Amino acid sequence: MLPASIPRLWMTLCLHLCCCVDRGEAQNAKEVILLDSKAQQTELEWISYPPNGWEEISGLDENYTPIRTYQVCQVMEPNRNNWLRTNWIDKGNAQRIFVELKFTLRDCNSLPGVVGTCKETFNLYYQETDSEVGRSLRENQYVKIDTIAADESFTQGDLGERKMKLNTEVRIIGPLSRRGFYLAFQDVGACIALVSVKVYYKKCWSIIENLATFPDTVTGSEFSSLVEVEGTCVRDAEEEADNSPKMHCSAEGEWLVPIGKCICKAGFHQKGDACEPCGRGFYKSSSQDLQCSRCPAHSYNDREGSWRCDCDDGYYRAPSDPPSAACTRPPSAPQNLVYNINQTTVSLEWSPPADTGGRNDVSYRVICRRCSWEPEECVPCGPNVGFSPTQSGLVDTYVAIVDLLAHANYTFEVEAVNGVSDLSRTQRLFAAVSIATGQAAPSQVSEVIKEKVQQRSIQLSWQEPQQPNGVITEYEIKYYEKDQKDRIYSTVRSKSTSATVSNLKPSTAYVFQIRAFTEAGFGTYGPRLEITTMEEATAAIVSSEQNPVIIIAVVAVAGTIILVFMVFGFIIGRRHCGYSKADQEGDEELYFQFKFPGTKTYIDPETYEDPNRAVHQFAKELDASCIKIERVIGAGEFGEVCSGRLKLPGKRDVSAAIKTLKVGYTEKQRRDFLCEASIMGQFDHPNVVHLEGVVTRGKPVMIVIEYMENGSLDSFLRKHDGQFTVIQLVGMLRGIAAGMRYLSDMGYVHRDLAARNILVNSNLVCKVSDFGLSRVIDDDPEAVYTTTGGKIPVRWTAPEAIQYRKFTSASDVWSYGVVMWEVMSYGERPYWDMSNQDVIKAIEEGYRLPAPMDCPPGLHQLMLDCWQKDRAERPKFDQIVGILDKMIRNPNTLKTPVGTCTRPISPLLDQSTPDFSALCSVGEWLDAIKMERYRDSFAAAGYASLDSVARMSIEDVMSLGITLVGHQKKIMSSIQTMRAQMLHLHGTGVQV
Ligand code: AMP
Repeated sequence: MLPASIPRLWMTLCLHLCCCVDRGEAQNAKEVILLDSKAQQTELEWISYPPNGWEEISGLDENYTPIRTYQVCQVMEPNRNNWLRTNWIDKGNAQRIFVELKFTLRDCNSLPGVVGTCKETFNLYYQETDSEVGRSLRENQYVKIDTIAADESFTQGDLGERKMKLNTEVRIIGPLSRRGFYLAFQDVGACIALVSVKVYYKKCWSIIENLATFPDTVTGSEFSSLVEVEGTCVRDAEEEADNSPKMHCSAEGEWLVPIGKCICKAGFHQKGDACEPCGRGFYKSSSQDLQCSRCPAHSYNDREGSWRCDCDDGYYRAPSDPPSAACTRPPSAPQNLVYNINQTTVSLEWSPPADTGGRNDVSYRVICRRCSWEPEECVPCGPNVGFSPTQSGLVDTYVAIVDLLAHANYTFEVEAVNGVSDLSRTQRLFAAVSIATGQAAPSQVSEVIKEKVQQRSIQLSWQEPQQPNGVITEYEIKYYEKDQKDRIYSTVRSKSTSATVSNLKPSTAYVFQIRAFTEAGFGTYGPRLEITTMEEATAAIVSSEQNPVIIIAVVAVAGTIILVFMVFGFIIGRRHCGYSKADQEGDEELYFQFKFPGTKTYIDPETYEDPNRAVHQFAKELDASCIKIERVIGAGEFGEVCSGRLKLPGKRDVSAAIKTLKVGYTEKQRRDFLCEASIMGQFDHPNVVHLEGVVTRGKPVMIVIEYMENGSLDSFLRKHDGQFTVIQLVGMLRGIAAGMRYLSDMGYVHRDLAARNILVNSNLVCKVSDFGLSRVIDDDPEAVYTTTGGKIPVRWTAPEAIQYRKFTSASDVWSYGVVMWEVMSYGERPYWDMSNQDVIKAIEEGYRLPAPMDCPPGLHQLMLDCWQKDRAERPKFDQIVGILDKMIRNPNTLKTPVGTCTRPISPLLDQSTPDFSALCSVGEWLDAIKMERYRDSFAAAGYASLDSVARMSIEDVMSLGITLVGHQKKIMSSIQTMRAQMLHLHGTGVQV
């Protein structure tokens, strides 16, 4: 039986509950409710045991919404044990469960007569199961959570004051391992009303943080535990490298400690918690960039969400260009392409293109094609052609192309390229030149084999060079004794690819080198090959000793060979740089040539593949700073001739003549100019002008020669007419002859020996000068074209050289005779003003220049000897030097009857001189010697007969008003001849 007061209590509880709900909090967003008794409006139907214990009662909240409560109030009876169990609660993912109880509890003191039985607490239990376990209730299966006491209990008086005291207690259970559980309330004799039971767990609700989504996350099992959660990037976002997004869910359901982040992908930018595409005309190339950017120059895009912009037509982006770079295009063609050909080397130079295409990585590439002449078909040059510094990727605007074929046609295209050239499909832009290479010497002879090695001879064979660059006419084998100090070379020539070198010493190491020769000259020597001859075999010596006949025969044969070679060696000396046909005739069929150690031979510089090499082999390169130009002293063919000073380091300064190459010269002019130095540099003789050196590495290009204070001999003599003794003049002639002897010994043929090409120094020493090409003769104002082609200084040249260009040392001897005449006549013009044709004719008919005034007859005889028609009859320079030396040693031989040459005049030598016996008058005589213009002068002065004329002196001639020296001399010369003829014919002398 329940006490009568109990129904009132319920009523009171109901009112109390209504107030309570009134003050209730809003549901916490972090909580997931598993059970909320208040939310259920139908019966809860929990299990109550014993059945008369806990009692389910309905009530209303402040909104008059019905609520369900359980009450018990058996305070009067001892040992109560009333159980109330909830329905099974599915715990879901939860591990830690919150139980919130709201209840009221009656103060035992306020109840009369309940001492000892009335309680003011109740117990809370739970039982874990994986599923519902039926309606039976076994106490021992429950685990106690706590004894719940009221913070505040109420009394009867409270009810009267309508002050309701609601207790709220929260207990936590867990970690739970089964799928669900039951809660149980044990009442042991209290007066309780369970107003609400709420069971929940906490979780962190899904959020977006740093562009990453974090899902709903149930909190951990412990109060202190944090659950680490990986975030997922929102759409169009990606994880930042090595920084994936993470957050931590706390036991209280709060997100803590964010780590890492997501960022918007390329083409997207962040707006709030999302990534939005870049608009049209904008791009974002990388997730790292924050903002979308406008398309760079010469690019566009018409899509949203682009990571780059497309290039406008004709513009490109190199693979290495970033999307932020403007689009660019290939450069225009290089400008001002110029070239220079040096035999088989071509150098190209150009200026940068006008348009670099908007880039600064312009480089150049050269395309080389070799073309046939006709029809013009071109093929790539192939790997044998060299490019210096390289063929492509050229940073500087020049390139040298080497190892081209001689006499070939090439096309070179120079293209400017930049980083987008290879992407462009537009037409290539380039500058091009077509070039024909010159001739070139053959390449090296490299594979030399020793075929046979003997005591005194070695037989060699070799392969033709890889690039003959023409027809190989012969090979030159150079050799020297390896251990010989001064390394004197000897050479042997061969027309085939083998040769035997004889006359070697036994047991001696020799070094051999071979080079090939073509029309273009000698190639470079191949590598050195060292071979040691065999030891001398005693047997051979013994047998020779035993047979003196053999020795004599061998010596005789060897002597003959040597003699033959010496003669040939002399004959084959060539003069001019070009290798003309005329030079190759006759004797030069010879293909072995011995050069004896110590005999230096002139080498034609044009046989060098690279004329620069010839210059530097024979001429010293001077530093321009050593040269001081002081004044201009003459005009040479290639530029001014100056005088100045040369100061070589460690030497005192000397005066020098400096020949300069005028600006704007062609490569050929430069070569020809330096050719003179290449020739002069080979000579070393006191009567040959000495080369100091050259300046080829600076501008102007210069040839520096010893200074010859008195300039050229012809003008020097004219200036000092009659001022020297015969001995002085002969001394000059002796010097010239000695210089010529030296040159002819070296195998050099001058071809333009004349007083104008002899220089005189302050000591009156005469030196042969003017070494150049045959072309220099062309430049000689005295040189005229002859019927045989080529220009020839007719008055100085031997007939065979005029007629068939047979230039030899013998023809130089003829010229030397003319120089003698020039010297003895103080610079008179040979053959005066006769025309060249008349001179050729007169010579052909046997006319020879008469002896100049005061010329010792011995000297004139020497001149006449030099003018022998048969060149073999002419003296050699060696003999000329000997004769002159004799004359100088015996000055008596140089005495001359005043005004005459004592030597009888041979009609053969002076055929063109008029025969005075046939002439009747002074007028006829003057006509005959082409001096008719002075007829009146002679008549006015009373010279009416040839006899009176024959007595005239030079003063008499001059007193007639004949001022021209040439005319005075011509007249005097004729008068002398006239006297001689008279003496010859009548045996009478003429008194002067
Ligand atoms: P070339 O070009 O050799 O004919 O020289 C032209 C002129 O320069 C000659 O006629 C001389 O007057 C003068 N000349 C050339 N070489 C020298 C030199 N070594 N010393 C003095 N004058 C020279």
